[in-house]
Amino acid sequence: MLLEINDLAVAYGRIEALHGISIQVEAGEIVTLIGANGAGKSTTMRAISGLRPASRGSIVFDGEDITTLRADLRVTRGISQAPEGRGIFAGMTVAENLDMGTYARKDLRGRAREEGLERVFTLFPRLAERRTQVAGTMSGGEQQMLTIGRALMARPRLLLLDEPSMGLAPMLIAQIFRIIKEINEQGTTVLVVEQNAQQALSIADRAYILETGSIVKSGQGRDMLGDPAIKAAYLGVA
Ligand code: ATP
Repeated sequence: MLLEINDLAVAYGRIEALHGISIQVEAGEIVTLIGANGAGKSTTMRAISGLRPASRGSIVFDGEDITTLRADLRVTRGISQAPEGRGIFAGMTVAENLDMGTYARKDLRGRAREEGLERVFTLFPRLAERRTQVAGTMSGGEQQMLTIGRALMARPRLLLLDEPSMGLAPMLIAQIFRIIKEINEQGTTVLVVEQNAQQALSIADRAYILETGSIVKSGQGRDMLGDPAIKAAYLGVA
């Protein structure tokens, strides 16, 4: 097991946003966490990457309890997050943004960095074409690619993707999910949070449904796509 979350609770002040969730991700899998606005998806991601403390429960990564480990050290261990809403450095170029992805990994220099760039530019040729462009002037889809590329620069064993399809046209969404699948086939384990259940479930090995801070269902991605309750709630079909 690569990631094991047990009974995790996270609070903002006195308001508890996650009420004790348990999620497992095996090495090599794509796992998706589906939920509506405010369900707690981003909170779960922040807790895994160390940006938000757990008030209860534990997070174990590759056998090590990382529940209270500093965020930058989690990146060193192999956890890297592409945040929701892109979160690029708008005033920096594409290449500079990608370099920031290696920031927490002082161990990745020279050759490893070159290999990282090569991998990202092969996955996203558009970023290669635009490496000197100021990131803030790129389209929404290109910025989304850059966020994922930057997360990959840290050479994650576990890639956390927070709503990669947000704000994108359907064709681009399909393309982003194809690339996520490709990243996974290259050996990176992926945990992807989505409101767009259709695409996420079609590439996921397994899925968890999050409702108001609790996991209400889990199963195989394929089975979930055919589940009438899930169709009604998350796939826009009655
Ligand atoms: P969305 O799809 O809209 O981004 P989400 O599933 O990612 O939603 P979260 O952002 O994790 O949901 O929010 C879960 C709950 O925690 C919500 O009720 C939200 O209002 C609350 N919350 C999130 N961030 C904060 C914060 N910084 N301070 C207080 N409450 C917060």
